[in-house]
Amino acid sequence: LMTKLPDTGISIFTHMSQLAVRHGAINLSQGFPDFDCSPRLVALVAQYMRQGYNQYAPMTGVAGLRERISAKVEATAGIYYHPETEITVTAGATQALFTAMATVIHPGDEVILFEPAYDAYAPSVRVFGGIPKPVALNAPDFAIDWEAVTHLMSPKTRLIIVNSPNNPTARVLSDTDYRRLVEILRDNDCYVLSDEVYEHMVYDGVQHRSAMHYAGLRERAFVVASFGKLYHTTGWKVGYCLAPAALMAEFRKIHQFNVFSVNTPVQHALAEFLNDPEEYLELGAFFQEKRDFMLEALSGTRFRALPCQGTYFLLADYTAISALPERLFCEALTEQRGVAMIPVSSFYSEETNQQLVRICFAKQRQTLEQAADRLALVS
Ligand code: PMP
Ligand code: GLN
Repeated sequence: LMTKLPDTGISIFTHMSQLAVRHGAINLSQGFPDFDCSPRLVALVAQYMRQGYNQYAPMTGVAGLRERISAKVEATAGIYYHPETEITVTAGATQALFTAMATVIHPGDEVILFEPAYDAYAPSVRVFGGIPKPVALNAPDFAIDWEAVTHLMSPKTRLIIVNSPNNPTARVLSDTDYRRLVEILRDNDCYVLSDEVYEHMVYDGVQHRSAMHYAGLRERAFVVASFGKLYHTTGWKVGYCLAPAALMAEFRKIHQFNVFSVNTPVQHALAEFLNDPEEYLELGAFFQEKRDFMLEALSGTRFRALPCQGTYFLLADYTAISALPERLFCEALTEQRGVAMIPVSSFYSEETNQQLVRICFAKQRQTLEQAADRLALVS
């Protein structure tokens, strides 16, 4: 076959979720809430459907939604993106990432990314003929070796992908990290793809810094966000991309032939819902409470949790429990103990084993309690 990804199988999220269903396990693997979104938001979607908002939306997104996004970004991050020219509504963050890559990656271009990395990045890079150049970060602190990044840069480096707050490490990039990145990119013809879908999930007063806060990044960055994370609606697949006008114009040329436009009634509902900032400003406190519960619960088990600054994931070390490599451990835990998690090795391109699992705590208290009871029995 002359196809593009012959060696790629189903994602680890699909695999572990299927295994959880088959064994009736509590699913802390794939990242999604097991509680519902706001009924008010559902009612708004139904309302717009009944009112006849059921045909194609504008290619770039419903105007009112782009305006509300612009206002939200300005209110929370203090940066203005023009709704007409610098914001496009996408079918989830996934499509924004894919289209941004399509916009800048030519065959043979190199793309720097940091591992552990979200599973979609490297395969998407390869679809466009790009060459992923991973920089491996390691537990416990997953610090970026910026010297190593400097050495990887070449005239072929077209894109660098950053994700903060980070899935799966639960770490947040520091001001120093961003400054180093600005320095490295200063004399390079390289774009930035900043995946910020967990922007509002930061804890203990840790601050989320966006690529847009650094002029040297903003001028070359696609910033990607997701309403799936913002409003507990991962099944709706609506997100957006921000970029300077010249870059966004190129992004849209591809977007129009990829999805053309995104679900109309959902966009109208989101636009209206965005008028109420409390819904997303409470997100940090909401998930910090769940994180704290999970950390406390894990302290009564033989799992050892790593620090969690952001996202709705945390990492835990199981060295005290098993010598199995991560994937086998996760499969055995699902089958025998009824709790599903994600092996961290699946976020690396090279084989690794740090005896680490990723736990999703975007779950109801009752689910977390049940999982904790089961994990306490694992010795
Ligand atoms: N990037 C990261 C880091 C994610 O964790 C996710 C969702 N798991 C996505 C992108 C995709 O977001 P969406 O569901 O909006 O496509
Ligand atoms: N982003 C989710 C996670 O990290 C999974 C999304 C998916 O299954 N593609 O668990």
